[in-house]
Amino acid sequence: MREACQLVVEAHQLVGGMVAPGVTTAELDRAVEDLFERHGAQPLFKGVPGTVPFPAVTCISVNEQVVHGIPGPYELQEGDIVSVDTGCRLNGWCGDGAWTYPVGKIDEVKSRLREAGQTALRTAIHGMGTRKKWSQVARMIERGVNREGFSVVEDFVGHGIGKEMHEDPEVPNYDSDDFDERDFPIRPGLVLAIEPMVNAGTGEIRILDDHWTVVTADGAPSVHFEHTVAMTREGPVILTEGLGQ
Ligand code: MG
Repeated sequence: MREACQLVVEAHQLVGGMVAPGVTTAELDRAVEDLFERHGAQPLFKGVPGTVPFPAVTCISVNEQVVHGIPGPYELQEGDIVSVDTGCRLNGWCGDGAWTYPVGKIDEVKSRLREAGQTALRTAIHGMGTRKKWSQVARMIERGVNREGFSVVEDFVGHGIGKEMHEDPEVPNYDSDDFDERDFPIRPGLVLAIEPMVNAGTGEIRILDDHWTVVTADGAPSVHFEHTVAMTREGPVILTEGLGQ
């Protein structure tokens, strides 16, 4: 899994170096597709079933787009934030990671939002090593985000990951009354894709007519940070270490 995850990190380093005004989201996607092909890795996002199968190897979501944006002719502009999410299977094992990049100079809200999203992910990983149940971690994530005046998205969650990209359990970033049924103990051997989505406004979302792109209901910007993390006897290990650097 570490090898698959490190290829995801490499994809992000490639994309992170390309992000600039005038670059299209399709160009970013193409670069990742070529990288996976060169390494004989199977892209995990392309062909994911839906009303229409997902058409690309990355999800690229700009500004008010939360997740699942479809790469295309859109040219990045100074002041945008762009969330890139991708995953691959290498030698039978999966890796998954997302990061929100600034395009040139971004405004203060977007800047604070990126900080809050990264803090949420760090909090989650720290909590994985110090708490016994995921519900306790999820509470920490949500409280931290709310303290900054932002909201977590509840309609989409993280997931277990292994030979398949999406495995049990579901990994929410919020606390709720019905958590008991979905709660799970944090034990060595557990590998999670932890992926808080943080909105500047409310946590409400809607889906565009392309059947995939998730946007904030109020049009405020959103960020998405994801690591694949393995729980070991020595504590959590970030398999996608290096992502976003
Ligand atoms: Mg994921």
